[in-house]
Amino acid sequence: MVSSIQSEVGTQRKVITELPGPKSRALHERRKAVVSAGLTNGFPIYIERADGAILVDADGNQILDLGSGIAVTTIGHAVPELIEAVSAQVAAFTHTCFMVTPYESYVEVCEELATLTPGTYAKTSALFNSGSEAVENAVKVARLATGRQAIVVFDHAYHGRTNLTMALTAKNMPYKDRFGPFAPEIYRVPMSYPFLDELSGAEAAAIAIKEIETQVGAKNVAALLIEPIQGEGGFIVPADGFLPALSEWTTQNGVVFIADEIQSGFCRTGDWFAVDHEGVVPDLVTTAKGLAGGMPLAGLTGRAELMNAVHEGGLGGTYGGNPVAAAAALATIKTLRDRNLVARAREIGDTLLTALHSLQQDVAIIGDVRGRGAMVAMELTQPGTKTPNAAAAKSIVNYCNQQGVIVLACGTYGNVIRLLPPLVISDEQLADGLSVLGAAVRAAS
Ligand SMILES: *Cc1c(COP(=O)(O)O)cnc(C)c1O
Repeated sequence: MVSSIQSEVGTQRKVITELPGPKSRALHERRKAVVSAGLTNGFPIYIERADGAILVDADGNQILDLGSGIAVTTIGHAVPELIEAVSAQVAAFTHTCFMVTPYESYVEVCEELATLTPGTYAKTSALFNSGSEAVENAVKVARLATGRQAIVVFDHAYHGRTNLTMALTAKNMPYKDRFGPFAPEIYRVPMSYPFLDELSGAEAAAIAIKEIETQVGAKNVAALLIEPIQGEGGFIVPADGFLPALSEWTTQNGVVFIADEIQSGFCRTGDWFAVDHEGVVPDLVTTAKGLAGGMPLAGLTGRAELMNAVHEGGLGGTYGGNPVAAAAALATIKTLRDRNLVARAREIGDTLLTALHSLQQDVAIIGDVRGRGAMVAMELTQPGTKTPNAAAAKSIVNYCNQQGVIVLACGTYGNVIRLLPPLVISDEQLADGLSVLGAAVRAAS
């Protein structure tokens, strides 16, 4: 049954109506009456099915997906192993609440997390429904285990939209504006941003550390929370040495180092986790997006002595580690391993970086090309300057969408185009997407 549905999905991008097409436009009218205007859609085509890197909309257009639902469907859409695992679990049971009566798959996911996340020390995990929830729980654990309160975060950071994670997130519009008051004891310091600050990793770390020591005091800091490559903030890759210097400082000062790997984790950057690139070993790691192939699941994994410092009953939630999501995570991890997608992420990264660097030679609006593995971006600027060019980013996204290619914008200044293709994307699909993107950039120049 599954295969007959999927066989209707081709492997090529194919646009047969204007976009959005008439059926999507009609659905969008229905939406307006009942869905909050506070939620927006980047590209309001309504999806009916998908396979690999192709989405099919209500009008039968085949859309090339270079966003993976924001780094979630890393293994691609409609992966047979995932469909089978999830279907079997739905038939077996869909919920018991792990806090009431447990089941094996939850334990198995935690075993995988203990094996895959960096660090050879004893680790335990807790599972949640969303990335924000994992980050909130990381803060709870760090505060309880250290008896300290201050949390250090960085410029351009994105950690979620719940009350605590809004406070941890840097950007006001659209995430925070008029949603306060925000949680206290959160301190923001400068991020290494090589394109704009032109500092080495060691120099940028020294600046951040000096601010922490003078404005907060090391002994008051429970945790330093950082995305090893920033996601929503603009795919900012810190200069080499920045993360190791911060990690060393946290170790010396009894501060918990929390790596938020929610966007960068699970093979996305060509390593299982982005911190692996420089051998940085965090104390706690948050995971979500790429972990479960689209089913809602998040993990908090870390040193057993921190994670187990929490009193009995101190962590949990009704749905956290739901059995269907846990089955999806196990199938996702198996697929990442079996298909060696960590290596494929590196290949995709080479292709993307080569193509974007060569495009950068031809046009004046690409200030910077950066990223690792299948997490690559270009920062658009006013020609010959570093002044953000959000209008160009917007026009590139629109152009790509009109041609049936999904690309996402990000960045504090809205001037970064990010690419997050599923790792199962074929070379032909990648070349097709890059040719549309190239045309879009030239049109915006
Ligand atoms: C998406 C994201 C979050 C929040 O995850 P949600 O599942 O949307 O709550 C937190 N941190 C990072 C780095 C993210 O990319």
